[in-house]
Amino acid sequence: MVSKTSKLVNFNAGTDKRNKPSDQIEAILFNVAEHGSSDRRIENALQLVQSIKYDHMGLDSGGYQILKAEQKGWAISFDNERPAFHGKGAINLVPRHVMETAAIFEPDMVIGLDHPLNPKIKTPLGKRIEFINKSVRNISLAHESAKWHQKLCPHIRLFIPIQCYELEQLDLYFNGLRGVKFDGVSIPIRNMPVGKIVAFLHSFYQRGIRCVHLLGTSRLTIIALGAYMARHLFEWVSIDSTTWNTAAIYSGFINPKDLVRIDLRPNGRGNHGHFNDCTCPYCNGLTFPQVKGLPLSEKRTLLRKHNWWVIDAAFKDMYEASTSLANLECSLKSRAKNQREVDELLNALSSAVTMKAAA
Ligand SMILES: [Zn+2]
Repeated sequence: MVSKTSKLVNFNAGTDKRNKPSDQIEAILFNVAEHGSSDRRIENALQLVQSIKYDHMGLDSGGYQILKAEQKGWAISFDNERPAFHGKGAINLVPRHVMETAAIFEPDMVIGLDHPLNPKIKTPLGKRIEFINKSVRNISLAHESAKWHQKLCPHIRLFIPIQCYELEQLDLYFNGLRGVKFDGVSIPIRNMPVGKIVAFLHSFYQRGIRCVHLLGTSRLTIIALGAYMARHLFEWVSIDSTTWNTAAIYSGFINPKDLVRIDLRPNGRGNHGHFNDCTCPYCNGLTFPQVKGLPLSEKRTLLRKHNWWVIDAAFKDMYEASTSLANLECSLKSRAKNQREVDELLNALSSAVTMKAAA
């Protein structure tokens, strides 16, 4: 069944006044660490908002910046007595800061604060210890986030971050969340296999959750997964990524067909040939060697606009194609680079929908 309110939302993350890829961005995502941790940062974000046309705004908490701080060995604190702070080797964020920023920005959705699991931990024992240690804090942060959300901005949709390595950890996590009022959940995607992402989403669906946000990806198969889930299971599926910008900084050209990066650094050894058949309004007939040879700042500006345009177009294409699994298969098989991943996705989606029908 397709709900009339089904939505697939492509959040643009990582934009500021200087690097915005367009004056029309359907959905923009800020985070409290980078956009709400000082008066100047709040002012800059609000100026950016005034300079673009958008339909949706999201506010991420800054959990990702806490994880980055942890990886860089910065001082991390959750101190209610001090203001929000991010920079110079330290970060301080609490749920109150997140909801105070939400009350200023008035986004459509806000993500509660968390301390993400470290994705670099690979051993089963290490992961178990990381999960146990951080779950205590994350569940307490979720309760605090919901409390401040109720107090300061109850009209904004609250998404609670789910930090589990494995499906089996979800029961324990959701038990801890009992009593927390929320509208949706968010999960980090990174390099998680598509079959596992479908299994997580299906488990959320079975728990009555109808709104999900997938953090930090622009892989074509994940966009397809989100599109199909938005049409057939969920009311809202949003995805965010900074790829359009991070790729452009290193002269990466996102291939419009499969969204895989092509290296256009002056000495890059990409096997891309000469001809660029991109139909975006910015490439404008330029060949790959011509783009490669542009002055760096001009190249970055062009690539930011091109990259954003092709990712956004892929969202629309995948939503269009996801009316049925057969249509989605047809579209993905003609453009995805990793065909094994496409098969894995189609199998997982097919069993998720069968299980839904049987429920
Ligand atoms: Zn282009």
